[in-house]
Amino acid sequence: MLAAMPTPPSAVSRDEPVIRDRGDACPGALRLHAADDGFLARVRIPGGALGVRQGELLAVAADRFGDGHLELTSRGNVQLRGLADGCGAGLGELLDAAGLLPAPAHERVRNIVATPTSPAVLPWVRELDRLLCANTRVTALSGRFLFALDDGRGDVAALEPDVTVLGRPDAPGERVLVRLGSAAGAVAVASRDAPRAALLAAEYFLDAVDAAGTRAWRVGELPGQYRLEEGVFAARLTGAGIGAAVVEAVEWPYAAPPAPGAGDPLCVLPPFGRLSTAQWRVLVRLAEGDGMRITPWRTVVLPDAGGTDRLDLLREAGLAFSPDTAWRSVTACAGQPGCAKSRADVRADARALVERTRGELPVHWSGCERRCGHPRGTRWVDVLAAEDGGAYRLSVQGREWDRPADLAAALSAARATTSEPQPDTDPAVKK
Ligand code: SF4
Repeated sequence: MLAAMPTPPSAVSRDEPVIRDRGDACPGALRLHAADDGFLARVRIPGGALGVRQGELLAVAADRFGDGHLELTSRGNVQLRGLADGCGAGLGELLDAAGLLPAPAHERVRNIVATPTSPAVLPWVRELDRLLCANTRVTALSGRFLFALDDGRGDVAALEPDVTVLGRPDAPGERVLVRLGSAAGAVAVASRDAPRAALLAAEYFLDAVDAAGTRAWRVGELPGQYRLEEGVFAARLTGAGIGAAVVEAVEWPYAAPPAPGAGDPLCVLPPFGRLSTAQWRVLVRLAEGDGMRITPWRTVVLPDAGGTDRLDLLREAGLAFSPDTAWRSVTACAGQPGCAKSRADVRADARALVERTRGELPVHWSGCERRCGHPRGTRWVDVLAAEDGGAYRLSVQGREWDRPADLAAALSAARATTSEPQPDTDPAVKK
Protein backbone atom coordinates (compact mmCIF):
# COMPACT_ATOMS: atom_id res chain seq x y z
CA MET A 1 0.00 0.00 0.00
CA LEU A 2 1.32 3.44 -0.87
CA ALA A 3 1.34 6.29 1.62
CA ALA A 4 -0.77 9.29 0.62
CA MET A 5 2.01 11.74 1.40
CA PRO A 6 5.71 11.11 1.07
CA THR A 7 7.38 10.76 4.42
CA PRO A 8 11.12 10.69 5.00
CA PRO A 9 12.81 7.62 6.47
CA SER A 10 12.34 7.54 10.23
CA ALA A 11 15.05 7.92 12.85
CA VAL A 12 17.92 8.88 10.65
CA SER A 13 20.96 6.82 11.57
CA ARG A 14 23.61 9.41 12.37
CA ASP A 15 27.26 8.68 11.90
CA GLU A 16 29.29 8.68 15.08
CA PRO A 17 32.75 10.17 15.56
CA VAL A 18 35.13 7.46 14.40
CA ILE A 19 38.88 7.03 14.71
CA ARG A 20 39.98 5.48 11.42
CA ASP A 21 43.33 3.74 11.18
CA ARG A 22 43.20 3.31 7.43
CA GLY A 23 41.75 4.72 4.25
CA ASP A 24 38.45 3.34 3.01
CA ALA A 25 38.37 0.17 0.93
CA CYS A 26 35.58 1.30 -1.37
CA PRO A 27 36.06 -0.29 -4.79
CA GLY A 28 36.47 1.77 -7.93
CA ALA A 29 36.82 1.28 -11.65
CA LEU A 30 40.59 0.91 -11.26
CA ARG A 31 40.80 -0.39 -7.69
CA LEU A 32 38.96 -3.67 -8.01
CA HIS A 33 37.52 -5.59 -5.08
CA ALA A 34 38.18 -9.34 -4.89
CA ALA A 35 34.83 -11.05 -4.29
CA ASP A 36 34.02 -14.76 -4.27
CA ASP A 37 32.54 -14.58 -7.76
CA GLY A 38 35.54 -12.73 -9.22
CA PHE A 39 36.64 -9.10 -9.09
CA LEU A 40 34.16 -6.25 -8.72
CA ALA A 41 34.49 -2.80 -10.29
CA ARG A 42 32.41 0.23 -9.31
CA VAL A 43 32.13 2.91 -11.99
CA ARG A 44 31.20 6.38 -10.75
CA ILE A 45 28.46 8.07 -12.76
CA PRO A 46 28.20 11.68 -11.49
CA GLY A 47 24.54 12.67 -11.18
CA GLY A 48 23.68 9.20 -12.52
CA ALA A 49 23.74 10.81 -15.98
CA LEU A 50 24.76 8.32 -18.62
CA GLY A 51 24.87 8.91 -22.37
CA VAL A 52 23.74 6.31 -24.87
CA ARG A 53 27.27 5.49 -26.07
CA GLN A 54 28.47 5.23 -22.47
CA GLY A 55 25.61 2.83 -21.75
CA GLU A 56 26.53 0.73 -24.77
CA LEU A 57 30.18 0.52 -23.74
CA LEU A 58 29.29 -0.48 -20.18
CA ALA A 59 27.36 -3.42 -21.61
CA VAL A 60 30.38 -4.34 -23.74
CA ALA A 61 32.57 -4.22 -20.61
CA ALA A 62 30.17 -6.45 -18.65
CA ASP A 63 30.05 -9.01 -21.48
CA ARG A 64 33.75 -8.93 -22.31
CA PHE A 65 35.22 -8.89 -18.81
CA GLY A 66 32.43 -9.63 -16.32
CA ASP A 67 29.47 -11.91 -15.71
CA GLY A 68 27.18 -10.30 -18.28
CA HIS A 69 25.29 -8.23 -15.72
CA LEU A 70 25.29 -4.65 -14.45
CA GLU A 71 24.30 -3.57 -10.96
CA LEU A 72 22.95 -0.21 -9.86
CA THR A 73 24.25 1.07 -6.53
CA SER A 74 22.72 3.19 -3.77
CA ARG A 75 24.73 6.19 -4.99
CA GLY A 76 23.57 6.03 -8.56
CA ASN A 77 26.71 4.29 -9.78
CA VAL A 78 27.16 1.06 -11.77
CA GLN A 79 28.97 -2.11 -10.72
CA LEU A 80 30.44 -4.91 -12.79
CA ARG A 81 30.94 -8.31 -11.11
CA GLY A 82 32.61 -11.58 -11.92
CA LEU A 83 35.58 -9.84 -13.54
CA ALA A 84 38.52 -12.01 -14.49
CA ASP A 85 41.90 -11.54 -12.86
CA GLY A 86 44.12 -9.33 -15.03
CA CYS A 87 41.30 -7.55 -16.84
CA GLY A 88 42.06 -4.17 -15.22
CA ALA A 89 43.98 -2.62 -18.12
CA GLY A 90 41.41 -3.64 -20.74
CA LEU A 91 38.54 -2.47 -18.57
CA GLY A 92 40.27 0.85 -17.88
CA GLU A 93 40.83 1.40 -21.60
CA LEU A 94 37.21 0.72 -22.41
CA LEU A 95 35.88 2.98 -19.64
CA ASP A 96 38.28 5.70 -20.71
CA ALA A 97 37.00 5.44 -24.29
CA ALA A 98 33.48 5.87 -22.89
CA GLY A 99 34.51 9.07 -21.06
CA LEU A 100 33.90 7.39 -17.71
CA LEU A 101 37.45 7.85 -16.44
CA PRO A 102 38.20 11.54 -17.02
CA ALA A 103 40.70 11.73 -14.14
CA PRO A 104 41.96 8.33 -12.93
CA ALA A 105 43.27 9.72 -9.62
CA HIS A 106 39.78 11.05 -8.85
CA GLU A 107 37.71 8.13 -10.01
CA ARG A 108 36.53 7.08 -6.51
CA VAL A 109 35.67 10.59 -5.27
CA ARG A 110 33.20 11.54 -8.02
CA ASN A 111 30.26 10.57 -5.81
CA ILE A 112 27.57 13.02 -6.87
CA VAL A 113 23.86 12.26 -6.65
CA ALA A 114 21.38 14.68 -8.20
CA THR A 115 17.60 14.94 -8.54
CA PRO A 116 17.09 12.36 -11.30
CA THR A 117 13.95 13.84 -12.80
CA SER A 118 15.45 17.33 -13.15
CA PRO A 119 17.48 18.13 -16.27
CA ALA A 120 18.17 21.53 -14.67
CA VAL A 121 20.64 20.06 -12.16
CA LEU A 122 22.91 18.64 -14.87
CA PRO A 123 24.95 21.85 -15.36
CA TRP A 124 25.65 21.79 -11.61
CA VAL A 125 26.70 18.13 -11.86
CA ARG A 126 29.07 18.78 -14.77
CA GLU A 127 30.63 21.81 -13.13
CA LEU A 128 31.14 20.15 -9.74
CA ASP A 129 32.63 17.09 -11.45
CA ARG A 130 34.95 19.31 -13.49
CA LEU A 131 36.07 21.15 -10.35
CA LEU A 132 36.65 17.89 -8.46
CA CYS A 133 38.70 16.37 -11.27
CA ALA A 134 40.87 19.51 -11.49
CA ASN A 135 41.60 19.60 -7.75
CA THR A 136 44.47 17.49 -6.41
CA ARG A 137 43.51 17.95 -2.77
CA VAL A 138 40.16 16.19 -3.03
CA THR A 139 41.80 12.91 -4.03
CA ALA A 140 42.18 12.54 -0.24
CA LEU A 141 38.38 12.21 0.13
CA SER A 142 37.12 8.73 0.91
CA GLY A 143 35.16 6.80 -1.69
CA ARG A 144 32.15 7.20 0.61
CA PHE A 145 32.04 11.00 0.73
CA LEU A 146 28.80 12.05 -0.96
CA PHE A 147 27.68 15.25 -2.69
CA ALA A 148 23.95 15.80 -3.32
CA LEU A 149 22.66 18.36 -5.79
CA ASP A 150 18.94 18.74 -5.16
CA ASP A 151 16.67 20.94 -7.24
CA GLY A 152 14.78 22.02 -4.13
CA ARG A 153 12.26 19.21 -3.78
CA GLY A 154 14.24 17.27 -1.17
CA ASP A 155 14.72 13.85 -2.78
CA VAL A 156 18.49 13.34 -2.90
CA ALA A 157 18.91 15.81 -0.01
CA ALA A 158 17.32 13.12 2.19
CA LEU A 159 20.12 10.60 1.51
CA GLU A 160 22.37 11.82 4.34
CA PRO A 161 24.95 13.39 2.01
CA ASP A 162 28.13 15.00 3.32
CA VAL A 163 27.53 18.14 1.28
CA THR A 164 24.06 19.10 0.06
CA VAL A 165 23.12 21.88 -2.33
CA LEU A 166 19.40 22.61 -2.23
CA GLY A 167 17.60 25.08 -4.44
CA ARG A 168 16.90 26.15 -7.99
CA PRO A 169 19.76 25.33 -10.37
CA ASP A 170 18.02 27.15 -13.24
CA ALA A 171 18.00 30.59 -11.61
CA PRO A 172 21.66 31.73 -11.43
CA GLY A 173 21.01 34.74 -9.20
CA GLU A 174 18.68 33.01 -6.78
CA ARG A 175 20.08 31.86 -3.49
CA VAL A 176 20.50 28.19 -2.73
CA LEU A 177 21.45 26.44 0.49
CA VAL A 178 24.64 24.50 1.13
CA ARG A 179 24.45 22.09 4.05
CA LEU A 180 27.38 20.41 5.81
CA GLY A 181 26.51 16.86 6.88
CA SER A 182 23.26 16.73 8.82
CA ALA A 183 23.47 20.25 10.28
CA ALA A 184 20.21 21.99 11.18
CA GLY A 185 21.32 25.16 9.40
CA ALA A 186 23.05 25.97 6.14
CA VAL A 187 24.91 28.64 4.22
CA ALA A 188 23.13 30.53 1.43
CA VAL A 189 25.01 31.32 -1.79
CA ALA A 190 23.94 32.34 -5.29
CA SER A 191 22.88 29.40 -7.44
CA ARG A 192 25.68 30.09 -9.92
CA ASP A 193 28.25 29.62 -7.12
CA ALA A 194 26.81 26.31 -5.87
CA PRO A 195 29.34 23.91 -7.48
CA ARG A 196 32.32 25.92 -6.23
CA ALA A 197 30.78 26.20 -2.77
CA ALA A 198 30.34 22.40 -2.70
CA LEU A 199 34.00 21.92 -3.60
CA LEU A 200 35.06 24.38 -0.87
CA ALA A 201 32.89 22.48 1.62
CA ALA A 202 34.85 19.32 0.79
CA GLU A 203 38.15 21.17 1.30
CA TYR A 204 36.87 22.50 4.65
CA PHE A 205 36.09 18.89 5.64
CA LEU A 206 39.59 17.73 4.63
CA ASP A 207 41.17 20.51 6.69
CA ALA A 208 39.10 19.39 9.69
CA VAL A 209 40.17 15.77 9.13
CA ASP A 210 43.82 16.84 9.08
CA ALA A 211 43.35 18.86 12.27
CA ALA A 212 41.53 16.01 14.03
CA GLY A 213 43.97 13.34 12.84
CA THR A 214 41.19 10.73 12.77
CA ARG A 215 41.08 9.95 9.04
CA ALA A 216 37.30 10.43 9.11
CA TRP A 217 35.63 9.32 5.89
CA ARG A 218 32.42 11.32 6.32
CA VAL A 219 31.38 14.65 7.85
CA GLY A 220 29.38 12.94 10.61
CA GLU A 221 32.48 11.04 11.76
CA LEU A 222 34.39 14.16 12.84
CA PRO A 223 34.91 14.49 16.61
CA GLY A 224 32.73 17.15 18.25
CA GLN A 225 35.49 19.74 18.65
CA TYR A 226 36.27 19.55 14.94
CA ARG A 227 32.65 19.69 13.79
CA LEU A 228 32.12 21.80 10.68
CA GLU A 229 30.44 25.12 11.46
CA GLU A 230 28.33 27.27 9.17
CA GLY A 231 29.96 30.51 10.35
CA VAL A 232 33.46 29.29 9.56
CA PHE A 233 32.31 27.89 6.22
CA ALA A 234 30.61 31.19 5.28
CA ALA A 235 33.82 33.06 6.11
CA ARG A 236 35.85 30.66 3.94
CA LEU A 237 33.41 31.18 1.05
CA THR A 238 33.57 34.94 1.44
CA GLY A 239 37.37 34.71 1.44
CA ALA A 240 37.14 32.83 -1.86
CA GLY A 241 35.02 35.59 -3.39
CA ILE A 242 31.63 33.88 -2.95
CA GLY A 243 28.88 35.90 -1.24
CA ALA A 244 27.58 33.76 1.64
CA ALA A 245 25.20 34.11 4.58
CA VAL A 246 24.44 31.72 7.42
CA VAL A 247 20.86 30.47 7.70
CA GLU A 248 20.40 29.27 11.27
CA ALA A 249 17.52 26.82 10.97
CA VAL A 250 16.13 25.34 7.80
CA GLU A 251 12.96 23.36 7.26
CA TRP A 252 14.44 20.71 5.00
CA PRO A 253 11.91 19.47 2.43
CA TYR A 254 11.35 15.84 1.59
CA ALA A 255 10.15 14.29 -1.66
CA ALA A 256 9.74 10.58 -2.30
CA PRO A 257 11.88 8.97 -5.03
CA PRO A 258 10.32 8.60 -8.48
CA ALA A 259 7.85 5.71 -8.52
CA PRO A 260 8.48 2.86 -10.92
CA GLY A 261 6.14 2.78 -13.87
CA ALA A 262 5.18 4.41 -17.10
CA GLY A 263 4.86 7.98 -15.90
CA ASP A 264 6.69 10.90 -17.38
CA PRO A 265 9.57 10.34 -17.05
CA LEU A 266 9.54 6.58 -17.22
CA CYS A 267 11.11 4.86 -14.21
CA VAL A 268 12.41 1.30 -14.39
CA LEU A 269 13.04 -0.78 -11.27
CA PRO A 270 15.17 -3.90 -11.82
CA PRO A 271 14.90 -6.31 -8.88
CA PHE A 272 17.94 -5.86 -6.60
CA GLY A 273 19.19 -3.24 -9.06
CA ARG A 274 20.65 -6.01 -11.23
CA LEU A 275 20.22 -6.26 -15.00
CA SER A 276 21.49 -8.62 -17.64
CA THR A 277 23.28 -6.89 -20.48
CA ALA A 278 20.30 -7.82 -22.71
CA GLN A 279 17.97 -5.93 -20.33
CA TRP A 280 20.43 -3.07 -20.05
CA ARG A 281 20.60 -2.74 -23.83
CA VAL A 282 16.81 -2.37 -23.94
CA LEU A 283 17.13 0.62 -21.60
CA VAL A 284 19.95 2.08 -23.68
CA ARG A 285 17.79 1.71 -26.76
CA LEU A 286 14.87 3.46 -25.03
CA ALA A 287 17.14 6.24 -23.80
CA GLU A 288 17.80 7.29 -27.41
CA GLY A 289 19.40 10.71 -27.60
CA ASP A 290 18.56 11.89 -24.08
CA GLY A 291 20.56 9.34 -22.18
CA MET A 292 19.48 7.75 -18.91
CA ARG A 293 19.69 8.68 -15.25
CA ILE A 294 20.75 6.04 -12.74
CA THR A 295 19.11 6.89 -9.43
CA PRO A 296 20.36 6.22 -5.88
CA TRP A 297 17.21 4.13 -5.36
CA ARG A 298 18.59 1.57 -7.83
CA THR A 299 16.19 2.56 -10.57
CA VAL A 300 16.72 4.01 -14.04
CA VAL A 301 14.88 7.13 -15.18
CA LEU A 302 14.42 7.51 -18.89
CA PRO A 303 13.54 11.05 -19.84
CA ASP A 304 10.88 11.40 -22.45
CA ALA A 305 10.52 7.67 -23.01
CA GLY A 306 6.74 7.19 -23.02
CA GLY A 307 4.71 5.25 -25.59
CA THR A 308 3.12 1.84 -25.58
CA ASP A 309 5.67 0.28 -27.94
CA ARG A 310 8.37 1.18 -25.44
CA LEU A 311 6.38 -0.36 -22.63
CA ASP A 312 6.06 -3.52 -24.71
CA LEU A 313 9.84 -3.65 -24.98
CA LEU A 314 10.16 -3.32 -21.21
CA ARG A 315 7.58 -6.05 -20.64
CA GLU A 316 9.42 -8.40 -22.99
CA ALA A 317 12.62 -7.68 -21.07
CA GLY A 318 10.93 -8.41 -17.72
CA LEU A 319 11.37 -4.82 -16.59
CA ALA A 320 7.81 -3.47 -16.51
CA PHE A 321 6.55 -2.88 -12.98
CA SER A 322 3.64 -0.87 -11.67
CA PRO A 323 4.10 1.80 -8.96
CA ASP A 324 2.86 -0.60 -6.27
CA THR A 325 5.25 -3.42 -7.19
CA ALA A 326 6.41 -5.43 -4.19
CA TRP A 327 9.98 -5.02 -5.46
CA ARG A 328 9.89 -1.38 -4.47
CA SER A 329 10.56 -2.19 -0.84
CA VAL A 330 12.68 -5.34 -0.98
CA THR A 331 16.47 -5.14 -0.99
CA ALA A 332 19.25 -7.63 -0.30
CA CYS A 333 23.00 -7.72 0.02
CA ALA A 334 25.02 -9.64 -2.58
CA GLY A 335 24.93 -12.88 -0.55
CA GLN A 336 26.05 -16.22 -1.97
CA PRO A 337 27.70 -16.94 -4.31
CA GLY A 338 29.33 -13.50 -4.57
CA CYS A 339 30.30 -12.96 -0.94
CA ALA A 340 32.40 -15.38 1.08
CA LYS A 341 30.87 -14.13 4.33
CA SER A 342 27.32 -14.93 3.33
CA ARG A 343 25.49 -17.80 5.02
CA ALA A 344 22.79 -18.00 2.35
CA ASP A 345 21.76 -17.12 -1.17
CA VAL A 346 19.67 -14.28 0.23
CA ARG A 347 18.58 -12.95 -3.14
CA ALA A 348 17.13 -16.28 -4.21
CA ASP A 349 15.31 -16.59 -0.88
CA ALA A 350 13.99 -13.01 -1.08
CA ARG A 351 12.84 -13.52 -4.66
CA ALA A 352 10.93 -16.66 -3.69
CA LEU A 353 8.90 -14.73 -1.11
CA VAL A 354 8.57 -11.30 -2.66
CA GLU A 355 5.00 -11.61 -3.93
CA ARG A 356 3.76 -13.36 -0.78
CA THR A 357 4.90 -10.78 1.72
CA ARG A 358 3.54 -7.34 1.07
CA GLY A 359 3.46 -4.79 3.87
CA GLU A 360 4.20 -1.26 4.94
CA LEU A 361 7.79 -1.61 6.07
CA PRO A 362 10.75 -2.11 3.72
CA VAL A 363 12.61 -5.41 4.01
CA HIS A 364 16.33 -6.00 3.74
CA TRP A 365 17.87 -9.48 3.50
CA SER A 366 21.46 -9.96 4.67
CA GLY A 367 23.85 -12.89 4.58
CA CYS A 368 25.76 -11.70 7.66
CA GLU A 369 25.74 -9.02 10.37
CA ARG A 370 27.35 -6.37 8.16
CA ARG A 371 23.98 -5.90 6.46
CA CYS A 372 25.51 -4.30 3.38
CA GLY A 373 23.14 -1.95 1.55
CA HIS A 374 20.51 -1.80 4.30
CA PRO A 375 17.94 1.02 4.16
CA ARG A 376 18.43 4.21 6.14
CA GLY A 377 16.61 4.86 9.40
CA THR A 378 15.28 2.18 11.73
CA ARG A 379 11.85 1.34 10.34
CA TRP A 380 12.70 -1.62 8.16
CA VAL A 381 12.56 -5.36 8.61
CA ASP A 382 15.98 -6.91 9.14
CA VAL A 383 16.08 -10.44 7.67
CA LEU A 384 19.39 -11.98 8.67
CA ALA A 385 20.69 -15.43 7.73
CA ALA A 386 21.25 -17.42 10.92
CA GLU A 387 24.74 -18.56 11.87
CA ASP A 388 24.04 -22.23 11.40
CA GLY A 389 22.47 -21.78 7.96
CA GLY A 390 19.14 -22.73 6.53
CA ALA A 391 17.13 -20.26 8.60
CA TYR A 392 16.61 -16.56 9.14
CA ARG A 393 16.14 -14.22 12.06
CA LEU A 394 13.73 -11.33 11.54
CA SER A 395 13.68 -8.19 13.62
CA VAL A 396 12.18 -4.74 13.49
CA GLN A 397 12.52 -2.03 16.09
CA GLY A 398 13.29 -4.35 18.99
CA ARG A 399 10.94 -7.19 18.08
CA GLU A 400 12.45 -10.47 16.94
CA TRP A 401 11.22 -13.51 15.09
CA ASP A 402 13.84 -16.18 15.67
CA ARG A 403 13.96 -18.76 12.86
CA PRO A 404 10.20 -18.89 12.33
CA ALA A 405 8.86 -22.13 10.88
CA ASP A 406 6.66 -20.12 8.49
CA LEU A 407 9.02 -17.45 7.19
CA ALA A 408 6.42 -15.84 4.89
CA ALA A 409 3.89 -15.43 7.72
CA ALA A 410 6.51 -14.01 10.05
CA LEU A 411 7.70 -11.64 7.36
CA SER A 412 4.16 -10.39 6.75
CA ALA A 413 3.72 -9.83 10.48
CA ALA A 414 7.05 -8.01 10.70
CA ARG A 415 6.16 -5.74 7.77
CA ALA A 416 2.94 -4.78 9.48
CA THR A 417 4.73 -3.82 12.69
CA THR A 418 4.07 -0.29 13.90
CA SER A 419 6.63 1.76 15.79
CA GLU A 420 4.95 0.77 19.07
CA PRO A 421 5.53 -2.86 20.08
CA GLN A 422 2.26 -4.81 19.80
CA PRO A 423 1.07 -7.78 21.81
CA ASP A 424 1.80 -10.91 19.84
CA THR A 425 0.69 -14.45 20.22
CA ASP A 426 3.23 -15.93 17.83
CA PRO A 427 5.41 -18.17 20.01
CA ALA A 428 8.39 -17.52 17.73
CA VAL A 429 8.31 -13.81 18.61
CA LYS A 430 10.73 -12.58 21.24
CA LYS A 431 10.09 -9.23 22.89
S1 SF4 B 1 26.05 -8.32 4.38
FE1 SF4 B 1 27.67 -9.83 4.76
S2 SF4 B 1 27.13 -11.52 3.40
FE2 SF4 B 1 26.05 -9.71 2.64
S3 SF4 B 1 27.40 -8.81 1.09
FE3 SF4 B 1 27.81 -7.78 3.05
S4 SF4 B 1 29.55 -8.93 3.93
FE4 SF4 B 1 28.63 -10.22 2.33
